[in-house]
Amino acid sequence: MRLVLLGPPGAGKGTQAAILSEKLNIPHISTGDLFRANIGEGTPLGVEAKSYMDAGKLVPTDVTARMVEDRLSQDDAANGFLLDGFPRTVEQAEILKDLLAKKDQVLDGVLNFQVSDDVVVERMLARGRADDNEETIRTRMSVYRDETMPLIDYYGEKIIDITAEGTVEEINDSAMKAIGK
Ligand code: ADP
Repeated sequence: MRLVLLGPPGAGKGTQAAILSEKLNIPHISTGDLFRANIGEGTPLGVEAKSYMDAGKLVPTDVTARMVEDRLSQDDAANGFLLDGFPRTVEQAEILKDLLAKKDQVLDGVLNFQVSDDVVVERMLARGRADDNEETIRTRMSVYRDETMPLIDYYGEKIIDITAEGTVEEINDSAMKAIGK
């Protein structure tokens, strides 16, 4: 299956993706994780991404898209993937569509994790990641609203809504049911 995970920062996409990845036996590809790995290793890509991430802003699309293209061309992604954190803008969605079209592939669905603002802020503050301070969280929420939410209309019938409140297991059950597993 080729799935995109959509939802506000702090919706728990990463947690769910890790479980789904194991159950469906397809790789979890998280752009945030890929950037953090590059930062950890001090690569030029990591150095460039860090300033944007620390500010809660989007890393420029050209670098991000190149990183995703690279990852999707690896063998383990040939038969499916869970894409977490990409696309985040309509421009990125168009790039993904072209990337997949070149391989005669299409997305099977877009899981839209729905969660209230209060729960999002609570989860992010509890997580305590470097970019999880109040000001950055506010910026990321507004980037989500302005740039990423339009993807819900963009994907239209591919959208599969998941209620992302409750326990990790409950949310996972809903996600598995929603994709017919
Ligand atoms: P969250 O979903 O909690 O915001 P992520 O790990 O997905 O966390 O993303 C962290 C940061 O990485 C974002 O705020 C942004 O700076 C950068 N990032 C991740 N994915 C993208 C993307 N597709 N385009 C641009 N920047 C991205």
